[in-house]
Amino acid sequence: MKITNKMKLPRAFVEMARSDYEYKPRRYSVTSLLKSTREAILERRHHKEIEQDVSDMIWLLFGRAAHSILENQSEGDYEIKEAGLQVQFGDYTLSGRFDLYDDKSKTISDYKVCSVWKVIYGNFDDWRRQLLIYAYMMKTIGFEVNKGEVVAIMRDHSKRDAKYKNDYPKLPVKRIKFKFSKKDFLEIEKWLEMRFEEIEVAEQLDDDDLPLCTPEERFNSGDTFAVMRKGRKTALRVLGSMDEAREWMKANSGDYIDVRPSEDKKCVDYCRVCEFCNYYKEQIKLLNKEVS
Ligand code: SF4
Repeated sequence: MKITNKMKLPRAFVEMARSDYEYKPRRYSVTSLLKSTREAILERRHHKEIEQDVSDMIWLLFGRAAHSILENQSEGDYEIKEAGLQVQFGDYTLSGRFDLYDDKSKTISDYKVCSVWKVIYGNFDDWRRQLLIYAYMMKTIGFEVNKGEVVAIMRDHSKRDAKYKNDYPKLPVKRIKFKFSKKDFLEIEKWLEMRFEEIEVAEQLDDDDLPLCTPEERFNSGDTFAVMRKGRKTALRVLGSMDEAREWMKANSGDYIDVRPSEDKKCVDYCRVCEFCNYYKEQIKLLNKEVS
């Protein structure tokens, strides 16, 4: 990856932003398998061309700093910290690195720096899947694991909101716990096999033919339908489908329905490989046409 430094931040920022991760043929990390196939393959194919400014990586650096401080503390004799794992899936190698394994409680843990909103919304499926994969890998090499835990450090936690809002996390750190059953391990094994099959097919395809990311992977929650009244700027009600909006308007009031197209938030704001993705380029062209 090419690191730029448009704000001319001190050299230490640039050094911290560098990654020494090496892509190897037929070796995929847990984090890359958790991405969409298109993103994972484009990232691998174009990693030397991807450009990112260090000022845009501040929260990533913050996460790395927190990890680095925690990993430098000494562990108990029943703990294993920051260990790298590798498990074979046919011709492919799955690699991963977890933050802590506790042999007493048989728990695998990961430290995550996140937004307070992640904790408020409470959708931890991605974290659960990541920990379950680490647990599966540990089990494969002979360790007993039946629990996972994310220690979530909320970088934007507000003491004031914690004091006055009922559903706001009271402290800037939260332990999110998961239990893993035999069924979970069987399911994740199937899921990993399926992912490697998808990857094997995708590796043969050109960039533009890679399977398109799903709306969920593009952070696109779908169009919404606003029931409007003439002369009023704000909607009377916003609904998830045209039928619901029509029914609501019939039963209540309103003059017309405004269709609000949903945005592919990930493509526009968060995808590092967007410059190499034909879907993104076509979407941007469409947007530019609509604006002009
Ligand atoms: S730009 Fe959008 S569609 Fe393309 S790889 Fe990124 S998330 Fe997927």
